[in-house]
Amino acid sequence: MQKAKGKVLSVNESLVGVETTQGAVMNGEVAYIVLEDGKRLKSEVIDVKSGQMVYLQVFEDTSWMRVGDLVEFSGLPLAVKLGPGILGSVTDGLQNPLYELAKTEWFLERGIVVEPLDNITKWEFTPKVTIGDTVTGGDVLGTVPEKIFEHKIFVPFSLSSNFKIIEIAEKGAYTIDDPIAKIKDDSGTIKELTMAFEWPVKVAMPFNERSVPEKPLPTGIRILDSLFPIAYGGTACNPGPFGAGKTVLQHSLARHSQADIVIIAACGERAGEAVEVFKDFPELIDPRTGKSLMDRTYIVGNTSSMPVAAREASVYLATTVGEYYRKQGLNVLILADSTSRWAQALRETSGRKEEIPGPEAFPMYISTLISAFYDRAGVDILKDGAVGSLSIIGTVSPAGGNFDEPVTQATLLSTGSFWGLSRALSDARKYPAIDRIDSNSKYPSLLKEEEVTYLLELLRDGKSIASNILLMGEKGITDETYIRYQKSELLDAVFLQQNSFNDIDGVTNPERLRLMFDMVFAIIEASIDLKGKEEIRTHFNFLRQAFLDWNYMSVNDENFEKQHTKLINLVKQRTYAKEDL
Ligand code: ADP
Ligand code: MG
Repeated sequence: MQKAKGKVLSVNESLVGVETTQGAVMNGEVAYIVLEDGKRLKSEVIDVKSGQMVYLQVFEDTSWMRVGDLVEFSGLPLAVKLGPGILGSVTDGLQNPLYELAKTEWFLERGIVVEPLDNITKWEFTPKVTIGDTVTGGDVLGTVPEKIFEHKIFVPFSLSSNFKIIEIAEKGAYTIDDPIAKIKDDSGTIKELTMAFEWPVKVAMPFNERSVPEKPLPTGIRILDSLFPIAYGGTACNPGPFGAGKTVLQHSLARHSQADIVIIAACGERAGEAVEVFKDFPELIDPRTGKSLMDRTYIVGNTSSMPVAAREASVYLATTVGEYYRKQGLNVLILADSTSRWAQALRETSGRKEEIPGPEAFPMYISTLISAFYDRAGVDILKDGAVGSLSIIGTVSPAGGNFDEPVTQATLLSTGSFWGLSRALSDARKYPAIDRIDSNSKYPSLLKEEEVTYLLELLRDGKSIASNILLMGEKGITDETYIRYQKSELLDAVFLQQNSFNDIDGVTNPERLRLMFDMVFAIIEASIDLKGKEEIRTHFNFLRQAFLDWNYMSVNDENFEKQHTKLINLVKQRTYAKEDL
C-alpha cells in the first residue's frame, strides 16, 4: 500500500498542522517530518480533520521546522519493541536508549534514530516447540536467560489464528534480529519470527484471565504494609505538595518492594531530577540479590528539556513494557513520577488545539485517560497457569498541594490506595509524611483486619486528644487520656515513621513487621498505673528510645534479642536498666 504524504502548514510548538497531499491518514499513526538537512522528526497523528488537514504532535524539538517541510506517514501506530534486553536499560519515551546515545550528556540530538533494543548481544535460546506443533499468539516458542530470570519468547500477541511450526531454531545463541521460527497458517501464509515483536503502546494488552488483586505486595514501608497496603496488581495514588517526599518514597519502593521487576517512568518535577535517577540507579545494589538493582529495573524518562509530547509517550511505553513482563508470569511494579507532568503535557496540547477546556484548563477527557491508564494494572492468570501482575503507583503533584484539583481527583477515583502526603507531617519531619487519617486502601494488609482497625482508632483518638491539649493544656485532660495520647504518639514515632535513608530502618520485611506490631500492641495494651503527666511522659520517653534503638538493629545483630527483651521488661515491670537512668 502506498503510504500517505503531506506538507507542513503550521507549527505551534509541538503541535504541527499538516496538509495531506497523497493517501489517507489514520488517527494515532506515526509520521516523520523530513527537515531540510534530511533529519526525520518522529511525531504522532493526534487529530484528523475533515478535508486534508491533520494535526501531529511532535516528540522532538520543532524549532528548525519550516512551513512546506515534507511529511511522511508510516501507516503504523506508535509501538514498542518487546523482547530480551529491556531489563537494565534506560530509554526515553520513544524507546531510544539513553546510554547509547549519550554516554556523558543526557540529551539526544534531534532526529537521531537508534535501535530500540540491543541487536548485537546473542541470547542463549532453548526451543520449547517442535516442527508440526500448533501455536497461536502468546504461545511460548522457547526461552532465553535474561539477567535474573527465564525470558519467554512468544508468538507475537497480535497473531490470533492457529499456525503450524514449520521451522524452529536449534538450541544456540541468536540476536533478536535472527529468525528463530517459521510458522504457517491454514491458508498457507508463512511468517518468519524473531525473538522480538512490536506492540502498539496505546492499546492495552488483553488479559488472558483477569483476576482480583488481593495478595498484599510487601513494600518494606511500615505505614503502607500495615495501614494503607497495595496488592500485587493493585494501584495507588500518591499526591503531595512539592518537597513532601513523593520522589523519596518512589525510590524506596523501587529498591525494597517485593516485585520481580520495577519500571520507573520518570518525568521529573525539578530540572535534572530524571537525570539523577538515570545516574543514581545503576549504582544501587539490590538488597535481595546482592547484584545491581538495574538487573530487574527498566527506566524510561524524560528530562525537562524534552518536548511535552514525549512525556505522554513515556507513560504509555512504561505501561506496555509492564504488560509484557506480566505476560512473562512476573510481578511488575510501575512507578510513575509525576503523572501531573503528563497531565500538564495533555493540557498544553489541548490548549494549542483550542479544544473546549474542562476544570483548570485540563481537557475534558483527562479523567478517561487517567482511568484507562490505571486500568491496565491488574492480575493475569496466564495460559500455562502462571500468574503475572502489574501494579502501578503514580505520584501527583497538585499546585499548592490542593487535592481538589482534577488530576488528583481523577487518579483517586481510578486507584485502590490513596496515600496523601501532608505538609504538616513533612514540616515536622515525620517521614514518610503519609497522612495517617486521610489516607486509605481497599487492599488487604499484612496485618489482620481487626489490628488495622485497632491502630486507626488509636490514631484518631490521639489526634483529637492532641487538639484538646492544644485548647486546654495538659492539665485539662485526665491521666488516663494522657496515657492514650502517649500511646498514639509512640505508635507514630516507632512504627509509622521510618528513616528511608537508613539501610536497616528504611526497609521492614513482613516477619519483622509482625514482630514490631506485636511489640507495639503489647505497649498499647499494657495497663499503666502511673500518676501525673511528668511520670507518664518519662515512661513513654524510655519506651520510645528503646524501641527506636531496636529499629536500627539488624536481626542478625547479637544485641537484637537483648533489646527485644529489654523492651518487654520496660513494658511489663517498668524496670529500667541502670544505663537508662
Ligand atoms: P517531592 O518529590 O514530593 O517534591 P522529595 O521526595 O524530593 O519531595 O523530598 C524532599 C526532601 O524531603 C528530601 O530531599 C528529603 O530531605 C526529605 N525526605 C522526604 N522523604 C523522606 C524520608 N522518608 N526520610 C527522610 N527524609 C525524607
Ligand atoms: Mg519529586
